[in-house]
Amino acid sequence: MSSLRFKSVMEASRRKAIPVELPKERVEKYYACQVFNRSKMFEYLPKETYESLVDAIDNKKPLSRKVADSVAEGMKRWAIDCGARHYTHWFHPLTDGTAEKHDSFIEHDGKGGVVESFTGKLLVQQEPDASSFPNGGIRNTFEARGYSAWDISSPAFIIENTLCIPTIFISYTGESLDYKTPLLKALNSIDKAATRVARLFDKGVNHVDSFLGWEQEYFLVDEALYAARPDLALTGRTLMGHESAKNQQLEDHYFGSIPSRVEAFMLELELEAHKLGIPVKTRHNEVAPNQFELAPIYEETNLANDHNLLLMSVMNEVARRHNFRVLLHEKPFAGINGSGKHNNWSLGTDKGDNLFSPGKTPEENLRFLAFTSSVMNAVYRHNGLLKAAIISATNAHRLGGNEAPPAIISMFMGNQLSKVLDRIENSTIEELRISGKDELNLNIAQVPELRIDNTDRNRTSPFAFTGNRFEFRAVGSSSNCAAAMIALNAAVADSLDGFADNVEAAVAKGERVETAIFNEIKRMVKESKPIHFDGNGYSKEWQEEARKRGLDVETSGPLMYDAYLEPKTVEMFTRMGVFTEKELEARNEVKWEMYSKKLQIESRVLGDLAINHILPAATRYQSVLLDNVYKIKQVFDADRAAKISAQDIKAIEKISEAIAAIKDEVEKMVSVRHKANRMPSEREKAIAYHDDVAPCMEQIRKNIDNLELMVDNEIWPLPKYRELLFIR
Ligand code: ADP
Ligand code: MG
Repeated sequence: MSSLRFKSVMEASRRKAIPVELPKERVEKYYACQVFNRSKMFEYLPKETYESLVDAIDNKKPLSRKVADSVAEGMKRWAIDCGARHYTHWFHPLTDGTAEKHDSFIEHDGKGGVVESFTGKLLVQQEPDASSFPNGGIRNTFEARGYSAWDISSPAFIIENTLCIPTIFISYTGESLDYKTPLLKALNSIDKAATRVARLFDKGVNHVDSFLGWEQEYFLVDEALYAARPDLALTGRTLMGHESAKNQQLEDHYFGSIPSRVEAFMLELELEAHKLGIPVKTRHNEVAPNQFELAPIYEETNLANDHNLLLMSVMNEVARRHNFRVLLHEKPFAGINGSGKHNNWSLGTDKGDNLFSPGKTPEENLRFLAFTSSVMNAVYRHNGLLKAAIISATNAHRLGGNEAPPAIISMFMGNQLSKVLDRIENSTIEELRISGKDELNLNIAQVPELRIDNTDRNRTSPFAFTGNRFEFRAVGSSSNCAAAMIALNAAVADSLDGFADNVEAAVAKGERVETAIFNEIKRMVKESKPIHFDGNGYSKEWQEEARKRGLDVETSGPLMYDAYLEPKTVEMFTRMGVFTEKELEARNEVKWEMYSKKLQIESRVLGDLAINHILPAATRYQSVLLDNVYKIKQVFDADRAAKISAQDIKAIEKISEAIAAIKDEVEKMVSVRHKANRMPSEREKAIAYHDDVAPCMEQIRKNIDNLELMVDNEIWPLPKYRELLFIR
């Protein structure tokens, strides 16, 4: 075996679980100990400051400079008490992941020494050098200036002795350069619109919050094996590798016990998450070997998303302490399941009511239907946008690619609710009225019944109603949930606004409120019908059917992004105050650029591995075979020799063919890549990468995977799937 592969396989197989020391205290003692939450605010801030800050957070008010100064002082004292020496504005640039710029607290004291100081000005505003973040031409990079400002709705936290302050990141001209700014705007729009509709039913509602519960899927790979796979290290996925004889057929991983090394990792991850106030709750094996999932209790969407991003970086750190690498890529291995990040999403009033929960009274049920049909309407009208919001060069392998569900957004509503929707569509309000009473018979079952119906069935739907929430399942494991949450919340806010407008107009004309609401629900249900699909989303027939229904069936990632610039999208986002057209244009540039760059890196790594790792091994083995044939000829007469070496000769020919094909394809790939790089726009470049470069990569991989089956195992240079995928 090649020495590096051999060494790494041995090293990985000898590893033992690394014990984790758990605190002696109970969880509630150390939970959120690294977070500047309300109890720490209360302890470290003067009473008036505390009250003004809480008021600003709860009522979404700006913070005055005087209060900010006082908060900064208290926050600094708390951080220093916890051992922090640096602070950073923590933000979400348009690359996936988070960014930080660390400064220490020290300032000159004017006497040749230093003091530790931190002012309100630094807390609420800071200027990181933004020149190297993708910003889609909003600003020229030489202008390298934008500012970050504290998002007071997300508490500061300490990680590795650094005080991290969650911030938005915008340009001097006010355009957002991050994910958080538009997310906050989208959440504001849904608060306003949903409150309007909720108040049609209950005047006591003042606010509506959006909730997110993500389920993070991931793979673990031993560090030594990871290091021996340059493709994993540089691109996050294997660019080659023949399927293992055993992979997920037996489904034994899903039901199996968690390996002890992995359990130790999970234990420490949970501990770290709890210290950071991330309410992680469930963990289990997933379907594919080495695949796992972690989910928290759901939280308000902005906080939940910060927690997801924070968790992804904590996962990387903790994994390394356990000699693992976390793979957050959507499809690290061909032939087995990929990883998603289901976004469980709901809306709730400040009175604690879930607006997607069927209620106990007819009014509550009508409200439930008003909100559910508005979601259907939004997903229907913006199905192309929602797909654009979740697609990326990496998630494309999980959606629309080989062995993946088609890239079509549809909604699963379940048996019970489908029947209700049918009845509404085909009845008048009079027909539904219970005789002699002023009530509607909507026939909506209670939550438990709906949940059984909806959670057991249909795992193939990208967007499913699951009893008291919607589950957006198409979101990718490595992505920032904000992209999906911005599109979804803004689109639903727009539908809800339309709903409220129409009801108010009808009522002004003398219609009864209940009738006006019913008519609106009926209109939305009718109009949105094409999005409703409870069948098998993986079937061929569905793709044809979806096309007939007029749903977005685009399969190319770069073209899916066009949905962001369609007039109806631009109108919706501007109406909701989430994006300007200029921002949308700039952000699409970034998306296309990221798409091309990811494929460019993959293509370079693949070319290098093919030429410098695989072909030399194949040639060496071919030469062993040739040597054998040559020697057979020396020993036996021509007839016998031909017979004996027939199989070897066949193998030599096959290997030569594969070698030649790989050389040709690599050459072709390099030339189409160079051509793609010269394209005049980011959009065209991304299209060229998708249309011309990606197919070459697939061909190269196919030939390499064939060679893997032919070439002597001893000299194959890279750890194989069977070695990467089974942690003992
Ligand atoms: P499953 O695997 O069946 O989808 P999990 O328990 O793994 O279920 O994950 C469900 C996720 O949905 C959790 O994060 C949970 O907190 C979240 N969730 C539950 N109820 C709601 C709700 N009303 N709104 C948003 N998220 C929710
Ligand atoms: Mg789920």
